[in-house]
Amino acid sequence: MTQRKAAHARARRAIPATGAPRVGFVSLGCPKALVDSERILTQLRAEGYAISGTYDGADLVVVNTCGFIDAAVEESLDAIGEALAANGRVIVTGCLGAQGERVRRAHPAVLAVTGPHDVDALMAAVHAERPRPHDPFTDLVPPQGIRLTPRHYAYLKISEGCNHRCTFCIIPSMRGALVSRPIGDVMREAENLVKAGVKELLVIAQDTSAYGVDVRYRTGFWNGRPIRTRMTELAQALGSLGVWVRLHYVYPYPHVDEVLPLMADGRILPYLDVPFQHASPRILRLMRRPAGAENNLERVRAWRAACPELAIRSTFIVGFPGETEAEFEELLAFVEAAELDRVGCFAYSPVEGAAANALPGAVAPEIQEERRARFMAAQAAVSARRLARKVGRTLRVLVDQAGERRAIARSAADAPEIDGVVHVARAGGLQAGDWADVLIERSDAHDLFGAPARTIPRRGGSNREAAAGEVAGKARRTAPA
Ligand code: SF4
Repeated sequence: MTQRKAAHARARRAIPATGAPRVGFVSLGCPKALVDSERILTQLRAEGYAISGTYDGADLVVVNTCGFIDAAVEESLDAIGEALAANGRVIVTGCLGAQGERVRRAHPAVLAVTGPHDVDALMAAVHAERPRPHDPFTDLVPPQGIRLTPRHYAYLKISEGCNHRCTFCIIPSMRGALVSRPIGDVMREAENLVKAGVKELLVIAQDTSAYGVDVRYRTGFWNGRPIRTRMTELAQALGSLGVWVRLHYVYPYPHVDEVLPLMADGRILPYLDVPFQHASPRILRLMRRPAGAENNLERVRAWRAACPELAIRSTFIVGFPGETEAEFEELLAFVEAAELDRVGCFAYSPVEGAAANALPGAVAPEIQEERRARFMAAQAAVSARRLARKVGRTLRVLVDQAGERRAIARSAADAPEIDGVVHVARAGGLQAGDWADVLIERSDAHDLFGAPARTIPRRGGSNREAAAGEVAGKARRTAPA
């Protein structure tokens, strides 16, 4: 390794002022570190940041350090101190960044410390301090990206991959282990979506409740504020954006209890999509389900006690290899007792490469189908009962489609595409993306039916009103349109 004596590779080129955030750059160390610096500078410029040749002209300074020998460490620490004294906003990266504690002991004021060869982590730290600039004249896509969903709702993917090994699933072998997105990136995407008109964020992952496990719940930054990479903290932050926030693919771990108060307080929607898949402990063990040993019925009851308006959606597999009639009936009893609001049910089918294929006791297709039909009939009765309790109430809804006289909308209890809807009669004047307060007049096994009680100001769809389950004020019918 060649040790460079001085900070001779400091970026000198001043870019003319463009209004873009300006980053100062100090590059120390060997040619490998120099190449890292070149990659970082290239990425900064590609994203629209300007490079400042002076400390005082920079919004923040990146110091790419060397930690090869003691003299190099000293030089790196001196360079960090110099940048802090001259500018005050410093991010440290490079070899010495691998010794984050040492850097922070010497210079507690640094904004972030990232390791060598990790341009993504460095860019995430830069984004956290100065969001990536967007230039509508040169960027090919808007900041919120290209979306296939309607303008008023969007999926927000917070991680990729999965650390579990459910025996019926091959996703981990296709998508790899869990990789959580930096929380600052997730929040900036959410903000851009909201700025673009999104009124409902649907948080998704393979296992939303595992968010941050892979990075040990590392602290990230959003708008300069520290925030842990963790589901509860993410839900809190998303809840501050003033739109509906809906959690999908949450497993029934004990820490999920922490988000219930956020739902009860109206910070996020009182809705949990929890794929239980079965209720028999033996089948859950055979499935190797995450949190399979939890007492799910007890947990559901505790959640409802914490947030009575909570709507729970789940999916189940019937006819899993080895499932006995008694175990299936255990599942039916669970569905009855848990009174889940929305449920999907699939007959087990062997996926090529899934470990469950090797399990003994395959259930005959006709028995699978018979169990699926019995399951759905039982759930339809539960669903009808729960929906009937909403008749006579006024619910805040978000309109998905609007015709001249009728609209299709969704309440807090209805996720798009998978749950039921609220059919709104006499809906003249409503448009897709509008909020409305709807007096519920009748229900069936899946949907609600009603008419507008009053119109809502454009940004009036808070999680709070949805959490209350009923909007304030007396319902007043509008004249038919
Ligand atoms: S089914 Fe299991 S293994 Fe597959 S993605 Fe979900 S949690 Fe991971």
